[in-house]
Amino acid sequence: MTAPAPLTTPADVARNAAGRPVVQLRGVGKRYSNGTLAVAGVDLDLRRGEFASLLGPSGCGKSTVLRMIAGLGEPSAGRIDWPGAPRDGRGQPVRDVGFVFQEPTLMPWATALQNVMLPLRLEKVPSREAADRAAAALQSVGLDAFLRAYPRELSGGMKMRVSIARALVTEPRILLLDEPFAALDEITRHKLNDDLLALWAKAGFTVLFVTHSVFESVYLSQRIVVMAARPGRIVADLGIDAPFPRDAAFRTSVEYAEACKIVSARLAQAIVS
Ligand code: ADP
Repeated sequence: MTAPAPLTTPADVARNAAGRPVVQLRGVGKRYSNGTLAVAGVDLDLRRGEFASLLGPSGCGKSTVLRMIAGLGEPSAGRIDWPGAPRDGRGQPVRDVGFVFQEPTLMPWATALQNVMLPLRLEKVPSREAADRAAAALQSVGLDAFLRAYPRELSGGMKMRVSIARALVTEPRILLLDEPFAALDEITRHKLNDDLLALWAKAGFTVLFVTHSVFESVYLSQRIVVMAARPGRIVADLGIDAPFPRDAAFRTSVEYAEACKIVSARLAQAIVS
């Protein structure tokens, strides 16, 4: 992995290095059954409570990495370890992740509340408790007035909020998001960016956010992991040394513009490499 960019202060590097990893990827590779080598030699530690983005051009393997961390696909090389995670009855580490897909993927015949209750019902949580926890999760994303609304009655941004509430209702240690706001208009996307940061600041989970937008990754992240394609691999690991909370003033600051410039240059290098 390359050295951190000048955006990261030595104090940050020391602090981050000291943070305990929640998940560790070592030499992870993925070859799909059709022979495509999607990613190779990925080493990545995600530290407790950090907000990291995985940034790279389309097709460089970002989703493949995210899905393997979620257990939605097995690596064909290397290992994914979960230091300190509790073990299930078969001695396997409990991943404890929430996943937000590009599309909200809601059940159209179920209300917002029923959609968010689903992960709890799968965990056999009693209905009453599941309903209370789902209502609280919907409230945390600003949808307390829409518990009984069906997906067809909700805007694109509201459906994505339901999807985030469903991912968070089990209180996961890691939230994985796969370009969740790519289909939304800019104003809605900015609002959801802010709401996601507020949820993260409050609950303290670890975030890995996949995006191909430099601007979005710089706004949100403490750390940006840049990937390049053929095969998908990590080419830079950059710290974004700007304090939280971040807001509209940060988007128009010199600091933000400078960070976007540096990250864009790294991304451009990744695309030609
Ligand atoms: P990204 O998220 O960066 O756009 P992906 O992880 O989706 O990249 O894809 C990385 C590479 O793996 C691409 O070449 C893509 O076509 C290929 N790929 C993704 N999923 C599959 C699959 N299920 N079977 C075969 N190839 C796949």
